[in-house]
Amino acid sequence: AKSAGRSGFSFFDPSMQAQVRLRAELEAGLRRGLEQDEFRLWYQPQFNLEGKLIGMEALVRWQHPEQGMVSPADFIPVAETSGLILPLGRWILRTACEQLVAWQQHPVLANVRIAVNISARQMQDEGFVTEVCSILDQTGADACALELELTESMLVQSIEQTIDKMQVLRQRGVHFALDDFGTGYSSMSYLKRLPLDKLKIDQSFVRDLMTDPNDAAIIRTIVALGQSLDLSVVAEGVETNEQRQALVTSGCQGFQGYLYSRPGSAQELEHSIHGQR
Ligand code: C2E
Ligand code: CA
Ligand code: CA
Ligand code: CA
Repeated sequence: AKSAGRSGFSFFDPSMQAQVRLRAELEAGLRRGLEQDEFRLWYQPQFNLEGKLIGMEALVRWQHPEQGMVSPADFIPVAETSGLILPLGRWILRTACEQLVAWQQHPVLANVRIAVNISARQMQDEGFVTEVCSILDQTGADACALELELTESMLVQSIEQTIDKMQVLRQRGVHFALDDFGTGYSSMSYLKRLPLDKLKIDQSFVRDLMTDPNDAAIIRTIVALGQSLDLSVVAEGVETNEQRQALVTSGCQGFQGYLYSRPGSAQELEHSIHGQR
């Protein structure tokens, strides 16, 4: 009777089981990677209309011992659901702040601002503000040179608490950018209440800019919104001169993308920035 029951119906789904195993392996790998110091921060510069460097975005990379460089798109989601984004995010913030201090001695990169991507899970954590402050204290980094990139989607969940946290960090001098702007559900009423400094136009609008007139209209609207809220606007994913020109025509004044520079290690960027002078 027992065996009949077992064969009568099966929950076994091989593809699902494979997925669960892959996820568990990735999670274990992330844990080991954190212990073994396998993560690296790369940087991608942002420029203004005149071609002057206005900031660097820190982008995490995982230097996996067997798989080589793993993209954050592949491991950040698992880091988020597993909670490992908390220790990883702490490492990212500390490393970016240490880089700020190291660049203080550099002829061109002194006073450059570093933008760090923050996950919803980190922002919602009780200890987030204290943690950022203690990293600033311990590294001696200038709070004004630190920019935190938040996304619209993470704001809808706990808007009041987020505004409170942003205000405390703002008082210390920390800046804020709204990342992937235009892809989420921004309501104009709360956009006005957020202590923001910058809007980042999502790269999906830049990608089809030359072929989709809607994208050009959206970009002009974001630029106008930035101007009326007194926020700077940076377009990401700028790959061609045509895109850059169309962005300039739309009033955009900040640019980030392969046209200027691919993300690279701090050392690589020190060299290329020197070469550009
Ligand atoms: P994001 O914050 O929107 O970052 C911009 C992504 O666009 C980066 O991908 C960057 O390498 C890529 N990119 C830059 N210029 C161009 C371009 O001209 N063309 C194209 N096609 N792509 C360009 P990356 O480094 O693979 O990061 C992917 C995403 O992973 C990021 O999107 C961000 O959401 C997340 N991420 C990366 N680093 C971190 C981090 O330190 N912390 C957290 N929480 N998330 C991170
Ligand atoms: Ca970003
Ligand atoms: Ca973005
Ligand atoms: Ca994105």
